[in-house]
Amino acid sequence: MSLIQTKNLHLHYGNFHALKDVNIEIGRNEVVALIGPSGCGKSTYLRTLNRMNDLIDGTSIKGEIIIDGQNIYDKKLDVNELRKKVGMVFQKPTPFPKSIFENVAYGLRVNGIHKKAEVEETVEQSLKQAALWDEVKNDLKKSALALSGGQQQRLCIARTIAVKPEIILMDEPTSALDPLSTLQIEQLIEELRKTFTVVIVTHNMQQAYRISHKTAFFYLGELIEYADTKQLFENP
Ligand code: ADP
Ligand code: ADP
Repeated sequence: MSLIQTKNLHLHYGNFHALKDVNIEIGRNEVVALIGPSGCGKSTYLRTLNRMNDLIDGTSIKGEIIIDGQNIYDKKLDVNELRKKVGMVFQKPTPFPKSIFENVAYGLRVNGIHKKAEVEETVEQSLKQAALWDEVKNDLKKSALALSGGQQQRLCIARTIAVKPEIILMDEPTSALDPLSTLQIEQLIEELRKTFTVVIVTHNMQQAYRISHKTAFFYLGELIEYADTKQLFENP
């Protein structure tokens, strides 16, 4: 069974019809790239998956979004649990103005993990999983703001995976980064998919080709094409 299913999904911002009848299924451990011209609805679609759009006044949704067999608009659903299960990484790295350690530990404490040993263990594991540990292990008490942009983005990824989501949403996670940091994040995504399912917005077609299994092409709020990435790029 698919991990994520959206069926006949429509989203309006007030009167503006931003998503039109979007049907997508995403399997576990897949990397799915969302591409298309600016303003076509990629970020909007991404934000429906953890109900971030609910935070925007005037938003209304029709259709179904089913994650892990559960309709995410079910009245019984706990939105905080959903956002733990569906983590998010943004375009600009947004570390808190705190130490590297605290950036990762904070989310754990919010989620009720307070035992020192467990917090330390999870921080280390998460930084390793985000391919940042070797670079920061001697500087855990230093401010996260002293890290480079690429390191800050990997820290944000560590912070996201520390709470053990199943799905990681990424909204153009490399578009604010230099080419080397971009490559590091792309390699990291290749590793992350062994554990997580990744849905990533990118305006970079080559990036979609390099890192994704499936590509969803949006145009004016519609899903125009949804196919195996190799097939789509090699036999368009
Ligand atoms: P993309 O990520 O593909 O660039 P977005 O999902 O950000 O596109 O936006 C899709 C459309 O919805 C655009 O026309 C944008 O102007 C509009 N839009 C996005 N956010 C809002 C909002 N909060 N209120 C009203 N319109 C919005
Ligand atoms: P993106 O990088 O996803 O294309 P934008 O730069 O278009 O995003 O939009 C940045 C923010 O502004 C988003 O939170 C989006 O929801 C909001 N936004 C975009 N278009 C509109 C709009 N027409 N009206 C109100 N808010 C908007």
